[in-house]
Amino acid sequence: MTIGADSSDIVVPDDLKNNVWITNIAKILDPVYNWGRRNSVWPMVFGLACCAIEMICTAASRYDLARFGMEVFRATPRQSDLMIISGTVTKKMVPTIVRLYNQMPEPRYVLAMGACASGGGPFKEGYTVVDGIDKFLPVDVYVPGCPPTPQALINGLIALQEKIDQQSIASVPWYTKGDPTADDVVPIPVLGPDLVDVRQLGIIRQQAALTKAETVEKEPVAAVETAVAADQ
Ligand code: SF4
Repeated sequence: MTIGADSSDIVVPDDLKNNVWITNIAKILDPVYNWGRRNSVWPMVFGLACCAIEMICTAASRYDLARFGMEVFRATPRQSDLMIISGTVTKKMVPTIVRLYNQMPEPRYVLAMGACASGGGPFKEGYTVVDGIDKFLPVDVYVPGCPPTPQALINGLIALQEKIDQQSIASVPWYTKGDPTADDVVPIPVLGPDLVDVRQLGIIRQQAALTKAETVEKEPVAAVETAVAADQ
């Protein structure tokens, strides 16, 4: 067996063709590495709102997550592979959620369960709610629904398994130097609608004033007419 070589570069004599196996180390390791990980994804015990009830149902006997090797919900991020964002994400909770994510060892995955976690859901643009956890964490799988059924969550977990199947030990970010996911910054969102970031209000006002001044400079007559019309 020749390992670590491109099979197209190697000429194998006819009398050895049945005895020599030419392959690439990644082709041997990746399926084994991914098989082990895909069948032992341990989610964190972590629920945020109504979607969490469906997640709990999914872990109970009727849907039997043990079939996927995922029944071991861990009570600590240190032993978890998967964070299921199951519910409405409030701005007050974001720092805690991100801190828990930062405490998970690699490889780690995030599943956004339901409309709230994926995009704010019925509370989108509420002043206390973020419009999607993907503004703060890298989401691997989105599961639509309000709430998603256990079957939908299982479908999302199978999609995660398929994503894990596609990964290669040679390119996964957690074995590369300068891991781009190793980010320990904990963001603190501010209360207020997400249409405008209120922390940027000073800059927004400055830019608006600048644009207005440029318009007056370029088209003074039109600007005066606009101002007169506005006064009337
Ligand atoms: S998506 Fe629907 S069920 Fe899930 S947390 Fe939001 S409101 Fe509740």
